[in-house]
Amino acid sequence: MAEIEREAMEYDVVIVGAGPAGLSAAIRLKQLDSELQVVVLEKGSEVGAHILSGAVLDPCGLDALIPDWKEKGAPLNTPVKDDNFYMLGEAGQIRIPNFPMPPLMNNHGNYIVSMGNVCRWMAEQAEELGVEIFPGMSCSELVYGDNGEVKGVVAGVFGLEADGSYGPNTEPGMELHGKYVFLSEGVRGSLSKEVITKYGLSDGKEPQKYGVGMKEIWEIDPAKHKEGSVTHTMGWPLGSNAGGGSFIYHLNNNQVYVGFVVHLNYKNPHLYPYMEFQRFKHHPMVADLLKGGKRVAYGARAITEGGWQAMPKLVAPGVALLGCSAGMVNVPRIKGNHNAMLSGKAAAEAAFDAIRADRSGDELSTYESDVRDGAIGKDLKMVRNVKPMWSKWGLTASLMLGGLDMWTNNILGLSLFGTLGHDKNDAEATEPADQHRVIDYPKPDGVLSFDRLTNVAFAATNHEESQPCHLRLGDQQAPISVNLPKFAEPAQRYCPAGVYEVVEKDGKPEFVINFQNCVHCKTCDIKDPSQNITWTTPQGGDGPNYPNM
Ligand SMILES: Cc1cc2nc3c(=O)[nH]c(=O)nc-3n(C[C@H](O)[C@H](O)[C@H](O)COP(=O)(O)OP(=O)(O)OC[C@H]3O[C@@H](n4cnc5c(N)ncnc54)[C@H](O)[C@@H]3O)c2cc1C
Repeated sequence: MAEIEREAMEYDVVIVGAGPAGLSAAIRLKQLDSELQVVVLEKGSEVGAHILSGAVLDPCGLDALIPDWKEKGAPLNTPVKDDNFYMLGEAGQIRIPNFPMPPLMNNHGNYIVSMGNVCRWMAEQAEELGVEIFPGMSCSELVYGDNGEVKGVVAGVFGLEADGSYGPNTEPGMELHGKYVFLSEGVRGSLSKEVITKYGLSDGKEPQKYGVGMKEIWEIDPAKHKEGSVTHTMGWPLGSNAGGGSFIYHLNNNQVYVGFVVHLNYKNPHLYPYMEFQRFKHHPMVADLLKGGKRVAYGARAITEGGWQAMPKLVAPGVALLGCSAGMVNVPRIKGNHNAMLSGKAAAEAAFDAIRADRSGDELSTYESDVRDGAIGKDLKMVRNVKPMWSKWGLTASLMLGGLDMWTNNILGLSLFGTLGHDKNDAEATEPADQHRVIDYPKPDGVLSFDRLTNVAFAATNHEESQPCHLRLGDQQAPISVNLPKFAEPAQRYCPAGVYEVVEKDGKPEFVINFQNCVHCKTCDIKDPSQNITWTTPQGGDGPNYPNM
């Protein structure tokens, strides 16, 4: 094929992804020097379209970035008023009192927000400062310089033929070059994955860990709505099958975020995370809240859970990993947005100093040290043993020992356990199907629970069908020749959007990928036991269109 000719545009900093990390970096760069040329590229049709987050926001990131956010009209309108934690059994629940919880778990001072709307507001702030933001632009490739440094990205490739070749309607996109490239793609970013592998950024670190989070927005009976109320649950229906739990956040306008996270290190390939979520809503406490209401939106996204010990090196020549591209979620708090913002700010400050010193294309090592030695490192380090304890010893022991560990870390700054490891990655955790029982899930009733495809319609996801499938199989045969006999092909169940099916054709099983349904959660890239699925970016503007998730 002939070499593809692309126009190139030069910037000081090129930022991939308009989430809280990328937008914070853009804002900080322009606060420091209004002359800097800064561009943000976002694959969603608009800023916020692909943002799925609970969310209870710890405003410390925003306080540091835009101290007068209140006066500037940031959409943080629902302060947390009460914080509830329940252990569920099938028919009832026990409330865990707040006093044994370490102070870091307290949600006082936090806000229930739509992170999509917070990002939309942040984008306005960035644009007012002169940042160029291009939504609907997927960054599909990295561009390397002569010395092996990252010098830019390819963005805006549209209209490829189904086999990936160039056709009459193909737009080849353009190269955007920067003195530094910031990857703020969120969890399991496709370019971030390439950079982590190429430069060995995870060498010597624990494997990154993940959960899959699914979320619905419900409009409920006003009589049951308690604006500012936050509830977390553990226990039923997952029991000992998997780690995870739920969140129920009452925002304003009688709306409630109902979400469920399943840790992806579960062993039983028959487990069906989406159906666990649906079943959860039939718990009497939850059913009572939702009865008479209606579900208005659905979405799903993986969440990083590896924490401190899994965070890769954050910099390589010309490039830095921000926010959840590097995995900055504080797992017991289920919060990562504050660290995403703080990391964006820190990366911007490091790049500003470097550019002022006439540097480019090298490692921003002060960003790395700022994250590790500053507020983000402190936040993640304190809770570093909670996830490995849960994986190794189960829910009850990890609640007690993890609680003790967080107390000693919080008060004394030390852990009795040192730093525990994560062992396997989540794909390797999957065990053969014949070692586990098949789980019988009740059929959704269409009132509280819904089948997967009906729910996916509420993510408003869309992909141009004529483009190549963005979910790439390394070995085309492996789903049927390996995964089906050995693991009962779990892609049929772990995908929260029903992308993967095994159908019968001419009396033989066939693996089908309905990529049009994809909600960009990245679970397949993480959990496939053969590690045979690679999630790549489809063309810009495709994917979910979340309203105010
Ligand atoms: C179910 C769930 C609940 C959560 N609840 C909370 C909570 O209550 N509080 C909290 O603080 N945190 C919560 N989190 C964690 C939080 O969502 C993350 O920590 C946060 O989103 C990280 O921000 P980010 O900017 O790094 O990435 P993201 O918010 O994921 O943003 C990345 C952006 O980059 C874009 N992008 C990715 N790749 C490309 C590409 N190649 N080209 C162009 N654009 C690209 C994406 O479309 C997206 O808009 C939750 C996460 C989940 C999944």
